[in-house]
Amino acid sequence: MPRTVLVLNSGSSSVKYAVVEPDSGAMVADGIVERIGEGVVADHAAAMQIVFEELADDMTGVVAVGHRVVHGGPDLYKPTLVDDALIGTLEELAPLAPLHNPPALLGIRVARNALPHLPHIAVFDTAFFHDLPPAASTYAIDRDIAAQWHIRRYGFHGTSHQYVSEQAAAFLDAPLGSLRQIVLHLGNGASASAIVGGRPVDTSMGLTPLEGLVMGTRSGDIDPGVITYLWRTAGMSVEDIETMLNRHAGMLGLGGEIDFRVVHQRIESGDEAAQLAYDVYIHRLRKYIGAYLALLGGADVITFTAGVGENDAAVRRDALSGMAALGIELDEQLNTSTTRAARRISADNSPTTVLVIPTDEELAIARACVEVIDA
Ligand code: ADP
Repeated sequence: MPRTVLVLNSGSSSVKYAVVEPDSGAMVADGIVERIGEGVVADHAAAMQIVFEELADDMTGVVAVGHRVVHGGPDLYKPTLVDDALIGTLEELAPLAPLHNPPALLGIRVARNALPHLPHIAVFDTAFFHDLPPAASTYAIDRDIAAQWHIRRYGFHGTSHQYVSEQAAAFLDAPLGSLRQIVLHLGNGASASAIVGGRPVDTSMGLTPLEGLVMGTRSGDIDPGVITYLWRTAGMSVEDIETMLNRHAGMLGLGGEIDFRVVHQRIESGDEAAQLAYDVYIHRLRKYIGAYLALLGGADVITFTAGVGENDAAVRRDALSGMAALGIELDEQLNTSTTRAARRISADNSPTTVLVIPTDEELAIARACVEVIDA
């Protein structure tokens, strides 16, 4: 029986799980337990119980449990075996990622209790961006304050950006070291990265996953003056503002909908709010693409991934239209093909190759886990 890894992604109200064969890449089972805390699923312990019931026989080959942890803070970036010391460090990090790390920590505790005989490994979403060049990772604020409070641009979705950029090189049969890449991870959360020779030189998310692109419910880039203005003049509390920017902004805040399939339908039927939301989304995306083309001096490959990036041909077209002079030309027929596999969507004569590559964070986490236990 091939060995497998149980990969857990614990959010505040859901636990996503997958059992993956790291060696072949096969997904044995996956699913999600939602609405934790709403009654039927009382808490994370109850959710984990449901995960085990649903997995049943699929648990037999599991050799390790991989936990996706959003924020590794200043010091944690390598996939790390979970022990009491690591849990202590993660507890100290909670203020840096109050929305994301506490539920992950809860998931780790519950899973460790349930599966004490297996190694548990934490894999950090910030890891890939740990060595961002200082010019990209540094905010232009008072240096002492930044140092005291560990304020820097950390970047997120790192597992996806790394996996997809490696897959892009493999797809092109080119050495990773030779490529200037832009990766656009467009899901409910969305981020862009610029990568040279397999190493990131910039990414759109910052201290938290709030910075950068317009997202399903997050604002992305915003003048920090808006925050102080809302606090001082509109009388909103810090919690109100944080909730608004994280949960009631982005596509939801502008157009009332996060699912791009519905956004397109609403635009078709003349919904002006949906149209504006889409226009703001595309405008921001194009600005980041332009910025990264300038940083890289041109890109060899631009890759779309995640729910929107993999499935929405209109977003891909509108993100890259009118860029022939920058060396980017899509093939409309390839762009609108509905195959699920990794594929090229740029025209034959486009100097920049444009790809669609399905991300697979579970597989990447599973592989990181076996590297730790094999070491
Ligand atoms: P998450 O960040 O939650 O992992 P995903 O990467 O799964 O998000 O992306 C989910 C989003 O993908 C949905 O909200 C929807 O907007 C978009 N999406 C999924 N399928 C399609 C599709 N066929 N066409 C356009 N958008 C899609």
